[in-house]
Amino acid sequence: MFRLLNDVVNNSDGACTLDALDPPSVEGRVLYAVVAAPRTAAASGASVLPRPSFTWIGNMHGDETANRELLLRLAAGLCSGELADNDARWKALQGSTTVRIIPTMNPDGYERRTRWNANKVDLNRNFWSNEFPYAKPTLDQARKRDRYGVTMYPAADMWSKVGNFSLQPEAVAVSRYLAAAPPDLSANLHGGALVANYPLDACDSVGALSSCPTAEEPLPRQLATAYAVHNPDMAAQGTQPFSGGTVQGSAWYPVLGSMQDWAYHQLGRLMLTLELHEVKDPPAAALDELWGQNSVAFLRLMELAGIGLRGRVLDQQTRAPLAATLTVTSPASSRPATADTARGGYFYKPLAPGVSYDITVQPYSPSGGAVKYLPILLKGLRLGVSTDRVTAEGSAVTGAALRLERTLLATRAPASKKKKMLRASS
Ligand SMILES: [Zn+2]
Repeated sequence: MFRLLNDVVNNSDGACTLDALDPPSVEGRVLYAVVAAPRTAAASGASVLPRPSFTWIGNMHGDETANRELLLRLAAGLCSGELADNDARWKALQGSTTVRIIPTMNPDGYERRTRWNANKVDLNRNFWSNEFPYAKPTLDQARKRDRYGVTMYPAADMWSKVGNFSLQPEAVAVSRYLAAAPPDLSANLHGGALVANYPLDACDSVGALSSCPTAEEPLPRQLATAYAVHNPDMAAQGTQPFSGGTVQGSAWYPVLGSMQDWAYHQLGRLMLTLELHEVKDPPAAALDELWGQNSVAFLRLMELAGIGLRGRVLDQQTRAPLAATLTVTSPASSRPATADTARGGYFYKPLAPGVSYDITVQPYSPSGGAVKYLPILLKGLRLGVSTDRVTAEGSAVTGAALRLERTLLATRAPASKKKKMLRASS
């Protein structure tokens, strides 16, 4: 894998780099990410807004191989410039967006062609965060059977069976990598079905509830639709609970500890779980057709990275990046976001088209220093696209219509009277 990806990067004329994730797999194989970033990004440094970013993660289940091959093809096409040479939309994407590609997050499972990692753990049940709004299931819940001997809490049962009480190195490596610079949007690729699955995968720790869309709706459903409408075979999947090739994860079947739920609860970011091929390990001859069915959908989804409000919070006097909490006051159900000092005061809040948002930004000093800042009120924020259909289908709808970008200069609050008096008397 290293040699293959190294060739892709070496042939990119500087357009791509290779990241090695840490730690390696159970059997010591390194997980790699190809990073396709505009060449100007490094030169621009910390003074500008980070570009919208998208991360692809493939082959989480080692026996679902075709999505790995699609990501290798995507990486090669981006890094060589071949995709951009032939299409203005690909060119615009590469000029604007940082794309990271992890072709396989389960190299040991791939070698054995098994779903699990080398410890026989299902990696898509192995993510957990203290931010999950429920506790881990107990062993009692996992073992509980009704009078017919049937599992009473399937989600808890599956969780305990696949050994999720210990975090696996592959899940650690990918979660660390994602947390270091959270992608604005990401996708986790699978095979065995044909559907765009959007969060959440679990509503509670035992699988008692089956419907729990995130507070970002309708955007996650629109993103899934954006994928499906560009993949006609997927869009044709309409048998309940699938609708137009999409499904909210928990309405299909509850999955505890999935990566897309982790991304939402831990990072406040949206991730889709895309099931791209009904045959898990198709022959190489099928790959051309599969690429044809998915490449435009890949492109559309990446164009939607960063849809919403993006920006930075800086101290008005020193221009130093600040931390901040962004509270959405209208619609009240929408979840808060934060600005990250480590990324130059960067924040990203997903917004859905057609909705007007009021947001209060409260900057604060990252070190918890004495300087206080006045809140910044953002009223009536609305995207330049107004309907979900246009968002999903609109091939020409990019950039400014999808993203509101703001550099927010935080004003220091006047010092309190007590401080002034102290200063005067000293
Ligand atoms: Zn899978």
